Amino acid sequence: MTRSEELFERARRVTPGGVHSPVRSLRGVGRTPLFIERADGATITDVDGNRYVDFCMAFGPLILGHGHPAVREAVLEALGRGWSYGAAETASLELAELITGRIGWAESVRFVNSGTEAVMSALRLARAATGRTLILKFDGCYHGHADAMLIRAGSGLAEGAVADSAGVPAGVAGDTLVAPLDDDELVAQVFTERGADLAAAIIEPVPANCGLLPQRREFLEHVAKLCRRHGALLIFDEVITGFRLAFGGFAEVSGLVPDLVTWGKVIGGGFPVGAIAGRRALMDLFAPAGPVYQAGTLSANPVAVTAGLATLRALEDGAVYRRLETLGRDLEAALAQAPGVWLQRRGSLFWLLATSPDRAGIVRSKTRIPADAGDGYIGMFGRALENGIYLPPSPYEVGFLSAAHSRADVAALAALCGG
Ligand code: PMP
Repeated sequence: MTRSEELFERARRVTPGGVHSPVRSLRGVGRTPLFIERADGATITDVDGNRYVDFCMAFGPLILGHGHPAVREAVLEALGRGWSYGAAETASLELAELITGRIGWAESVRFVNSGTEAVMSALRLARAATGRTLILKFDGCYHGHADAMLIRAGSGLAEGAVADSAGVPAGVAGDTLVAPLDDDELVAQVFTERGADLAAAIIEPVPANCGLLPQRREFLEHVAKLCRRHGALLIFDEVITGFRLAFGGFAEVSGLVPDLVTWGKVIGGGFPVGAIAGRRALMDLFAPAGPVYQAGTLSANPVAVTAGLATLRALEDGAVYRRLETLGRDLEAALAQAPGVWLQRRGSLFWLLATSPDRAGIVRSKTRIPADAGDGYIGMFGRALENGIYLPPSPYEVGFLSAAHSRADVAALAALCGG
């Protein structure tokens, strides 16, 4: 028995399923979890002393890699001044000023502790701003585990959404509509039927939670136009893409501007930070400026926002994004002709499908994911692990490149997956 296996036995006795977030169980790839002892640069090391080049990167926050010196230094300095005040402090002010100064349409920002919390609060704000109840989401997007978002498509389009988790009341599920991605007509139909009651449409502009499902620009413009026409707010959930595709996320890359954005992951540099941002008039609906209650004991925790600030400062000049694009292109080029593997990529986000390219084509919606993609990935994950590479531990989680990866790391990944 390995040490990881021993620890997992212990963990199962005291924690549901032995883990504190389901995908960490490695069930999706038919394994049990590795217990990680340390992480540095592009690598993680488990308690059995195995070292892996990490392409999961904590599921996204670590765009600079593990243990980046500038972040570590800033965090240690902040720690020396105490780590929670429950009072106003300057680190969150500087982070808010950096963000609003760089992203013109994000005039005001509220910090929270996670992406889930950001989405939950953004939805409440949208409902308050519009005086409406319904929320539209898209099948294949994930927005955290607030009740209203744990909903999947049911049989009828504009009404039949059903809870995707036990414990979500039918009444809550009934207030969320689900439309398919990449289907202009069906989305238009939802707006025609229910547009007058829609508070908001929420979408990951580059859906990255059911594989990577890049959307056509026209589709996103179509959704934005429908929102405007029907008086619903458009929320971009950029928890993954924010500060990753560019400093201003997908909105910067595309020029498409939402009414509200939700951020997480990179904004905290690996510490628990999420955020909601948008124009001041909307954001001022949040308490204490306005009537929408929103609060948190640990919100804008000084150590966490200091990590975020150090991370975003390292991204400001754009060099990291250029480097990540080079690494991404390397991976793409190396796998372009590889049999039995299909890569979808946007910037430093990549999705490896262990299936034949000729059957795949660009996959833009959940229903078009090849049925054999999951099974093939299990073998790929195992092969990678045996060769010192840690891939995302599920066929439907995307991989992350970081500034700490080398071109040799990417070449090794490509050789393994394509070979
Ligand atoms: N939105 C998106 C797009 C996400 O990818 C995630 C997490 N993967 C969330 C929301 C929820 O964020 P958190 O896990 O920090 O609650």
